[in-house]
This record gives sequence, C-alpha cells and structure tokens, in this order.
Amino acid sequence: IIVPQPSAPSTEGEVRDVVIIGSGPAGYTAAVYTARANLRPLVFEGSVTAGGALMNTTDVENFPGFPDGIMGPELMMNMREQAERFGGEMIRDDVVEMDLSGPVKTVTDGSGDVHRARSVILAMGSAYRELGLPREKELSGHGLSWCATCDGAFFREQDILVVGGGDSAMEEATFLTRFARSVTIVHRREELRASKIMAERALNDPKISFAWNSAVTALHGEPKLTSVTLTDTRTGEERQVPTTGVFVAIGHDPRNELVRGQVALDDEGYVLVQGRTTATDVPGVFACGDLVDHIYRQAITAAGSGCSAALDAERYLAAQD
Ligand code: FAD
Repeated sequence: IIVPQPSAPSTEGEVRDVVIIGSGPAGYTAAVYTARANLRPLVFEGSVTAGGALMNTTDVENFPGFPDGIMGPELMMNMREQAERFGGEMIRDDVVEMDLSGPVKTVTDGSGDVHRARSVILAMGSAYRELGLPREKELSGHGLSWCATCDGAFFREQDILVVGGGDSAMEEATFLTRFARSVTIVHRREELRASKIMAERALNDPKISFAWNSAVTALHGEPKLTSVTLTDTRTGEERQVPTTGVFVAIGHDPRNELVRGQVALDDEGYVLVQGRTTATDVPGVFACGDLVDHIYRQAITAAGSGCSAALDAERYLAAQD
C-alpha cells in the first residue's frame, strides 16, 4: 500500500485565483479589491520591507482622506488591515522565482514553497537609488528625502540641497524653489546630464546655485539633519555645509529581477502595460504601481493602479470561467 505523503504547503495544493507580489500601496490596494471580490488573494509582502516605500517615511500629507496627514507606516498598516478584513492572506516572505507562462502560474517563495495561481499581480515597486552613506536610513524622513512632490512643503524658507545632475534632479530643484529659501544642486561632475531645457531652467533660476564636482560624503545631525560633508571629487577636499534638507535625485530602479525575460519591459526596465490597462504581454499577468510608472510615483497613483490591476484580474478570471 502506498501511503500518500503530505505535500509541502501549496506545492500540490489548490490553484489560487490570484497571487499578489508586493506590499506597497499598489499591492495592498489590489488585495483590498480582490479580497472584496471573493478571490481570496495571497499577498507576498517581502521579508524585509513589508509595507513598501512609505515604511521609510514620516508624515504623508498628500494621501486623500487624512486632513491632518498620517504617518507612512500607519497608512500602510491600515491598508494591510483593510485587505485582511475581507480575507486577504499575507505572507511576509519574498518571492524568489516565478513561471508566468501558461494558464496556471507558479510562484516560489523564500522557504521554497511553490504556490499556483490563475492570475498574478506584480506590484514590486521601484527602489530609489541611495547615496550609500551611514545614517541614510535613520535620517530618511528627518531631513533626507527622495521625493520633492511629497516632502517639499516641509522645507519652507529653508536652505536645501538636491543631489543629482539629470532631468529629475533639475525638476526636483526647480519645484523646490517654491518653498525653499535656496536650493543648491550638488553634482559630481562639471556638466549636467539633464536635457538642455531642464538644465537651462535650473541654471537661470535665481534661487538655485550649483556645487560642481562635489559629492555628499557624510550626513550630520541628531535626530534631524543639520549639515552634510561635501567632498570635491577632483581634489578630495572636504567642507561642511549647513542644511536642513537633502533631496536625493540620482535615479530609481524598478524591481524587475523576477520577471526579466518573462514579461515585456521598457528601455528603463519598467514593466510595459497595454494602453490604460494593467495587462502585461502575458495573459493573466497584471502590473501596477511604481514597477510600471516612472512618471507619477505617488502613493495615490500606485494605489489607483493597484485597484485597476485587481479589476483587470477579476475580469480576466471571469472571462476564463
Ligand atoms: P512600494 O511601496 O515600493 O512597495 C513595493 C514592495 O513590494 C516592496 O517594498 C516590498 O515589500 C515588496 N516586494 C518587492 N519585491 C518583492 C518580492 N520579490 N517578493 C515579495 N515582495 C516584494 N508618495 C506620496 O504619495 N506621498 C508621500 O509623502 C511620499 N513619501 C515618500 C517618502 C519616501 C522616503 C519614499 C521612498 C517614497 C515616498 N513616496 C510618497 C512615494 C511612494 O512611497 C511610492 O510611490 C509608492 O510607495 C509606490 O507604491 P508601490 O506599491 O508601487 O511600491
């Protein structure tokens, strides 16, 4: 007699309707919608950064519905709770491998368990490039920021720095002049990478000055940022510059490692979706949030596209039945 061995969780088990990978505003919103549609979503939240980018910030003042603002981690925990309330299942682990081909997709988590699903929503976000300095995490939200749209208003009448030499650094700097007393763009080289029009706008702005051939090499202040060390990239000479705000604008990388070669990506590595939908070029696979969006990159736009992904997945599943 052959006694059937208990299978590893989910390996041989049920085929889920939907698996969601990512736990930022996009992933959790997709979870709220798919859970309320009785699709019992399984959400992989990630082992280290569950809750997404807003777990690293303090006040969020531009997410509608919170007139007094809300702390980033609290907002994310609220979204998580809302998804759980309707039956969303959370797994605090990374997805390490996926096979998205065919009508049943397989998703392998960090413990080696294999989960199967008829549809997959990709919501892994994108990683802001960091300066790579000690105390960077600790000062994030305490003077150090990656998003002028999000945090510019906290720096009224202050002297702040923007790090970077590309279009996004010029855009952030120009935007920040609405609030700041002065903005200094810190750039490693003597020439900007930014397009001519963006560079000229910054160069001609009376509130903007430039620290050429300079890199931020240390962050000072406790508990908030009060100054930085700038190092001359040619001579190595150091100087301490007082500042209450540093905006890092040196780029971001979509977290596409898992899906490279499986779904179509654009030139910058963002997942390509069809028209105004969240459909990728693989049937049953949808993508949302900062993983697809290099233009808006806001919590509310990520949440909005998470909602669209859920509705797209729901319609896809209904059409299969
Ligand atoms: P993310 O929030 O990046 O979440 C993706 C998450 O998916 C990851 O964190 C991780 O947990 C998970 N994940 C990734 N890979 C895997 C994997 N392989 N397996 C399992 N899980 C995985 N926006 C605003 O609107 N207002 C603000 O005030 C604001 N402040 C900000 C402050 C900071 C410091 C930063 C960095 C961003 C801020 N933003 C703000 C931008 C906003 O946070 C992002 O636009 C938004 O979080 C993007 O949501 P997302 O769901 O696409 O991705």
